[in-house]
Amino acid sequence: MPSAGLRTAAEIQVEPGTLPQRMTAWVIREERFGEPIDAFQLEEIAVPEPGALEVVVRVMAAGVNYNNVWAALGKPVSVFRSHPDEDHHIGGSDASGIVWKVGPGVTRWKPGDEVVIHCNQASYEDPEVHGLDPMAAPSQKIWGYETSWGSFAEFTRVQAQQLIEKPGALSWEEAASYGLVYFTAYRMLIDQCELQAGHKVLIWGAAGGLGVFATQLCAAAGAQCVGVVSSEEKGELVTKLGAKGYINRNDFAGMMRKGGESPAEEKERFGVARQFGKAVKEILGDAPDIVFEHVGKATFPTSVFVVKPFGKVVICAGTTGFDLDFDVRYLWMRQKQIIGSHFANAYQCHKANELIEQGVIRPVLWRTMGFDGVAKAHQLMRDNEHLGKISILVGAETEGLGRTEDGPGAIMAEVGA
Ligand code: NAP
Repeated sequence: MPSAGLRTAAEIQVEPGTLPQRMTAWVIREERFGEPIDAFQLEEIAVPEPGALEVVVRVMAAGVNYNNVWAALGKPVSVFRSHPDEDHHIGGSDASGIVWKVGPGVTRWKPGDEVVIHCNQASYEDPEVHGLDPMAAPSQKIWGYETSWGSFAEFTRVQAQQLIEKPGALSWEEAASYGLVYFTAYRMLIDQCELQAGHKVLIWGAAGGLGVFATQLCAAAGAQCVGVVSSEEKGELVTKLGAKGYINRNDFAGMMRKGGESPAEEKERFGVARQFGKAVKEILGDAPDIVFEHVGKATFPTSVFVVKPFGKVVICAGTTGFDLDFDVRYLWMRQKQIIGSHFANAYQCHKANELIEQGVIRPVLWRTMGFDGVAKAHQLMRDNEHLGKISILVGAETEGLGRTEDGPGAIMAEVGA
């Protein structure tokens, strides 16, 4: 629980339209960079006022993402390079909540509205926002990672364009859990790869945050996917989510690139990657048209090798390392494509959210933790002990609150739950 003297997150003394002066927030500071369990600390901090076209939202629940594992570690870059004007970092790039105060110029939202928040920010004045894509704007930042004032606090400050109506069939914690990873997976597969019925897809980390949504998107689109996982329990989850099959990566540990391999070691590694490719084909009936990548250094050479000629490797991260190397002959001779992708624009977020409202895609929740669980949740993620998503109750006093309609709600990630 919060330290003595700090309010619990569920107690708010003011009505929508009025902000309190101070709030409780989980804060990362530069001098505390390190393991998440120590880097996150509870502090009392001034509540920000909304500026023009901004909104302050009372956070009811917050979603946990890998980006604030990176923020805590201070790697590969310090988040303070992205927001040098603040000496605190309040992380958190997913939330459900209640609009509490709107800034000048906001017309679409009012205090009391129930919302979820997508995490892309960009300046209204950048021309890219109005023609190309907000993700291309020079001002583009991920809220709660490249900015402070994220969702691990009683109140969060966001741009009005980040708000999406909360799906009524979801509880606060379910609604907070999915945005960042689901919207990222949606852009990667639907927009970047033009996923179609009949496509065959290989998904790394299929039981993780991105993976559970990539898997569901494939099933919804009529594509066949194989999920790569590291345990049988995770394999059961991805099968439940609609994967045609799964591969336990521990059976092919030798395919992982470490870097600096000798020619003999590289030959051996390649041999295991070839066996892995055969296992993928056995499940899918052919090589994948699309490989869904975020693991990076360890898996990228295998991804480029196993994808079909003219196929696409779409990548949004390099968790095991961003200095990728691979045999480029497999790329050019077989005319494969590598596509970089990063989060999503507001329109894609809204389109993707319609599938949540329809119950076609469902949040996949592993744990809901109290407000005191923010540091622990990130440590669990860092240690790869989770499946699907973790949510944090902030303003919501207990689980299950906030539903206004009937609907299927979240899938529980714990197999058998
Ligand atoms: P996550 O929930 O931790 O899932 C990642 C999965 O990757 C894990 O479940 C794990 O599955 C697998 N994995 C971990 N280490 C691996 C290794 N050495 N080899 C193969 N697989 C490994 O994380 P996430 O939310 O999906 O995010 C994944 C990465 O994408 C993070 O780096 C995150 O920051 C990034 N990301 C980027 C964007 C963007 O917009 N650019 C958006 C979302 C996330 P198994 O152990 O079961 O194999």
